[in-house]
Amino acid sequence: MEIYLARTQGFCAGVASAVDIVEFALGKYGPPLYVYHEIVHNTFVVNDFRNRGAVFVEDIDDVPEGCRIILSAHGVPPEVIAKAKKRKLKFLDATCPLVTKVHNEAVKFSAEKYATVLIGHKGHQELTGTAGYVNPNLLHIIEKEEDVEHLEIDSSQPVAYLTQTTLSVDETKGIIEKLQKKFPKLMAPPRSDICYATQNRQDAVKELAEICDIIIVCGSPNSSNSNRLRETGANAGVPSYIIDKAQEFDFSLLNSGMKVGISSGASVPTKIVDELINEIKNRHSNVHVHTFPNPEKNIVFKLPDLKVLN
Ligand code: SF4
Repeated sequence: MEIYLARTQGFCAGVASAVDIVEFALGKYGPPLYVYHEIVHNTFVVNDFRNRGAVFVEDIDDVPEGCRIILSAHGVPPEVIAKAKKRKLKFLDATCPLVTKVHNEAVKFSAEKYATVLIGHKGHQELTGTAGYVNPNLLHIIEKEEDVEHLEIDSSQPVAYLTQTTLSVDETKGIIEKLQKKFPKLMAPPRSDICYATQNRQDAVKELAEICDIIIVCGSPNSSNSNRLRETGANAGVPSYIIDKAQEFDFSLLNSGMKVGISSGASVPTKIVDELINEIKNRHSNVHVHTFPNPEKNIVFKLPDLKVLN
């Protein structure tokens, strides 16, 4: 059996920073450390922190006054920050800088009175956070191409769009083309909002799809970028599966002559992929693992000022 590992492995820079922030705060101050939402969308990471004293909350009001809280990498709307200040919490915002970039674009478009079409998955924390930076009177959220037809925006109104960072590159391209047809003067963000980690991971799965008979994506069910990777494999015509941990995979789908592609989402620890490979090796002899150079090796984001937690 031949295993091909996607060239993108391990945490993206935004997830690595958020995880480092929680590690630092737990190590320096100990439990309880409050975290607003899952710090990143990965079951293993969240459970590990929970076991070490992190308390995950969905409402800032659940945090006792004066305590320490880390805000998740997906970003939060401004009212959450205002609430944290009001409750006199010591808070550190672990929002990925590439999500903050989208927040800043949202603020700018609203200041310039653009009707802003926000493309993303309704209910996803990142989308909720970004929506909070758009003037509610100018905000239009859409998820798919068909939604473009139903957009009701006055023709005299300038229109701009923004996207969630973890969407399908191909699907988003189709939505934007439809928007451009409907609004010929559509304003785009200065640089694509879909982040480098999402783009690289989808490109790496397309690469696997050319070689492999089956693709297994390691990623949690609530991870947007991981789900998009499974779809990317399936759209390329290769049976593709997503698993949170190795034990979830139906190993009867594999046989010895197969070429197996393994990818993982941007918030998946390499340990999960290693466990999957070991489980395959336990069931098959003569397993060869092929790797490719990782294009993200040297991408690191600067940590925010950790002293605000003192
Ligand atoms: S997937 Fe992209 S936007 Fe999200 S944390 Fe990673 S680098 Fe940041």
